[in-house]
Amino acid sequence: MKITQIETIHLGDFPHILFVAIHTDEGLVGYSDTFYMTDAMRAYIHQFAAPMLLGHDPLAIELHWRRLYEVIAHIAGKGAEIRALSAIDCALWDIFGQAVNQPVWQVLGGATRARIRTYNTCGGPHYGRPTRGGSGYGADAEIGAKYEDLVGFMTDAGALAQDLLSEGITGMKLWPFDFVLDPDGWANWKNFKGAFDPKRVAIHGHSISRADLKLALRPFQQIRDAVGDKMDIMVEGHGFWSLPAAKTIARALEPFEPYWLEDLMRADDVGALAELRASTRTPLLVSEYLTTRYEYKPVLEKNAADIIMIDPTWAGGITESKKIATMAEVYKRPVALHDCTGPFTLLAGIHLAINCSNAVIQESVRAYLRLTYPELITDVPVVRDGHFDAPTKAGIGATLIPDVRQRPDATVVVSK
Ligand SMILES: [Mg+2]
Repeated sequence: MKITQIETIHLGDFPHILFVAIHTDEGLVGYSDTFYMTDAMRAYIHQFAAPMLLGHDPLAIELHWRRLYEVIAHIAGKGAEIRALSAIDCALWDIFGQAVNQPVWQVLGGATRARIRTYNTCGGPHYGRPTRGGSGYGADAEIGAKYEDLVGFMTDAGALAQDLLSEGITGMKLWPFDFVLDPDGWANWKNFKGAFDPKRVAIHGHSISRADLKLALRPFQQIRDAVGDKMDIMVEGHGFWSLPAAKTIARALEPFEPYWLEDLMRADDVGALAELRASTRTPLLVSEYLTTRYEYKPVLEKNAADIIMIDPTWAGGITESKKIATMAEVYKRPVALHDCTGPFTLLAGIHLAINCSNAVIQESVRAYLRLTYPELITDVPVVRDGHFDAPTKAGIGATLIPDVRQRPDATVVVSK
């Protein structure tokens, strides 16, 4: 079998997702996606990676990873390049599974569990799609209001927790601390653009006032008042805080017993992470911002995390994510799989979580599962009783809906 075409598909309505399809001379097509700075990733794939892959055996997955990575590491470029490499790698695993008519979790070595628990990241259907609607975090209550969970946690997190529990979901992630950083104040939260707001970048969170802390703690109180300890609460910080503020936030959250603290700070200083971890009894999760085992290694060596988060289409693909999970297992650390991005990323995470013995939970966004992913792929994973069952189809278990390529907002580029 040989790789005959590498295709990228981008949709204007999903500005940050880049789909990758790898075609073979035996008619098998492997799919994946990755996220952020799609023009740069597309350029890497077609100008750089495609000439290294076309005509080669798609099942030499380890060799392709190493060849692509060696040159990326050589030029010290680990942003768009490693994310694109990740998508290529996941698409090759999809081909491998299809070639032997087995799900990816089986070819990774089989299942260590029949299903993986999921938690709901409380974004709405337009979260992460800042060109759509008026608000940077996609909090467009008028569109898809049923699953507008960002509006939900900012207005009545207790009611949202009850609604999620009624569906069998027992974990929810929220990020109220982001909104005290809005230049126009907490009340402007529906218009907050987060990392996409150039005004916000100038006011990094070096401190937090007692008044702002009280505002941002309100959703946690609402959840505990409404459902007690039935709901696990994951706290997302999006890397916006410096160490003293992160310590203040962590201490203030302790009475609510969060399940984890995620990225209160950027995961770029292991010493600061270790100091934050030592300052709080709440488990620290680190971090979807890291890529490859080489960046996770010091975090584990320095005891800077309780739980390791991996995004398979950022960290280096299924090949690398498996290695990171195995390395975390050596240090007695569980791993959580990230997806707040694209449907094939979610599928890659589910296959890894079914296979890896130290996986504990898979992120999902119910608004994506019900309202956005069905626009994009066949066989959208289904949450049943708060879990994803092990996929049964061969390969990654879904394909891009063919009509997607004909959408008016589609840009399709093919290397062959
Ligand atoms: Mg996160």
